[in-house]
Amino acid sequence: MKYSFIVTIGAAALAVLGPGAGSSRAGEREATQLGSMLKRAQQVRDIQMTDEEELKLGEAVSERIRLRYGVVQDPAIHKYVTLVGGVLAQASTRPNLSWRFVVLDTDGVNALAAPGGLVHITRGALSLIGSEAELAGVLGHEIIHVTEKHTIKAIQKGKMVQMGAGETVGSSGVFNKLVEKATDVVMAGFGRDEELEADRKGIVIANAVGYDPNGLKAFLTTLADRNKASTEKQGLFASHPEMKERFDKLDATIKSSKLTGTATVVARYKASVTYAPVAITAIATVEKGSAGLAGSGSAKTDSSTKAADEEAKAEKPKKKGFGIGRLVAPSSGGEKQASETTGSSAARGVDTERNAKGGGNPKLVAVTLTAADLTTFKKDGKLN
Ligand SMILES: [Zn+2]
Repeated sequence: MKYSFIVTIGAAALAVLGPGAGSSRAGEREATQLGSMLKRAQQVRDIQMTDEEELKLGEAVSERIRLRYGVVQDPAIHKYVTLVGGVLAQASTRPNLSWRFVVLDTDGVNALAAPGGLVHITRGALSLIGSEAELAGVLGHEIIHVTEKHTIKAIQKGKMVQMGAGETVGSSGVFNKLVEKATDVVMAGFGRDEELEADRKGIVIANAVGYDPNGLKAFLTTLADRNKASTEKQGLFASHPEMKERFDKLDATIKSSKLTGTATVVARYKASVTYAPVAITAIATVEKGSAGLAGSGSAKTDSSTKAADEEAKAEKPKKKGFGIGRLVAPSSGGEKQASETTGSSAARGVDTERNAKGGGNPKLVAVTLTAADLTTFKKDGKLN
């Protein structure tokens, strides 16, 4: 373990970021460590992961995501996002995970939660977010995907990884397949129920620390408007039934749970985040193949790449249109997987945000936080 940068704050431990999960870590070591739990289960759908095992998986998934999009090499923005995320994580049901918050270097608007506490948000998303309460809404949503173990549950439910007869449970192939499937799940978005759960519980923790619980809805409204403006054909988006259901449920939660947080913290957000939004039509994308995540993070991929591709396609969870990224570029062809679409126009239903070009540096940016930093941050933002 290279995690020499975990700071304990009261009962909760908030991990601060370090470049510990370097690319050399994926592979045999993790495979060996996961082997013990796989032996207990024979099939992944039966596994019970320890927090440490979950983190190993999440680190490998994060590595793939970071190789795909790059990481903004700016300690200041990472510190700010980590402070907001850290405050929320402390209020979650799993405050002691090694929470890390990573800003991805792409104009595409997305937020992605890897198992174990690795939450990613894109530069493009930060550019569209208008307040700290909105950021808290998005990060709260992603934090719930982690605390409720949605990725692992999806793999189990879909029986996406199974052991062949005579296959060695500790083999790197099994671990790599887990990583591959988990990455697919994270990138495709979760099912409707999981997304609504993340919305509901996410705004509850945002509210618990004092943020206005309407932040998530405000950001989703911005996304809907952005989409509407991008092409006339996507003008139906604002009345998209899934969006309406989502808004209705957010409102219902605010009412039934009596969420009355008021902190929006606009000024601090504007002072901390100065990215300019890029119109969806102006976002550079990468073509299928180079955009694909499968195999991008590790040399240990199946030799039969084509077969693996087909399999991944077949096993990919159905896109329900609920993920943060999903809300940005749906269209008449919104059910179609972006990776299956040729061409590059948002008007034709390509998931521009997900296929957006990324930066070239996947290295994590170290953040050092103290308990005093968090206390000051909360006080300055008039948080609880
Ligand atoms: Zn989600």
